[in-house]
Amino acid sequence: MLVWDFYSMRRKVAAEAKPNPAHFAIADLEQKIGDRLVLVTQNVDNLHEQAGSKCVIHMHGELFKSRCDRCERPPFADDKRYERLTEIPRCECGGRIRPHICWFGEMPYEMDRIYDELARCTVFVCVGSSGVVYPAAGFVGEVRGRATTYYVGSEAPENAEVFDHVLEGKAGEVLPGVFVIE
Ligand SMILES: [Zn+2]
Repeated sequence: MLVWDFYSMRRKVAAEAKPNPAHFAIADLEQKIGDRLVLVTQNVDNLHEQAGSKCVIHMHGELFKSRCDRCERPPFADDKRYERLTEIPRCECGGRIRPHICWFGEMPYEMDRIYDELARCTVFVCVGSSGVVYPAAGFVGEVRGRATTYYVGSEAPENAEVFDHVLEGKAGEVLPGVFVIE
């Protein structure tokens, strides 16, 4: 019940958020190069989708989706706020409905797909990361030597030395200039 109070509050806050220029810059790039762009995010909000991004892999799940903790039913769109419940909502199968969020200690989602994409990556851009939280902090190491790697963010990450280029600045200001397609 407390879990649903917490995520209901997060849904409420996230529902009022709006994409920033960095979200739009990434969506614009996808418009230009199509499925050559794969966006992997640790964000659980839907601001990339709101900005127009299509191919988004949410490795930590999605705040506006729920899933059953028992059956194979895929995660489904859910913006409901389950506040002050006396009973956890149930799936038709009898399982409990939980937020589609990767909790501490759980394996992030779609890792196989992410490593497949890293294996064929030629340009790697990391935006706004501390560089200490694995597995995401290890992605740049996977492509190093094969792909040209960029970091963009207000502060250099802990693993800055692994990147070919570190561009310090607000992502919303730097990114639109990075993605210049001739
Ligand atoms: Zn179920």
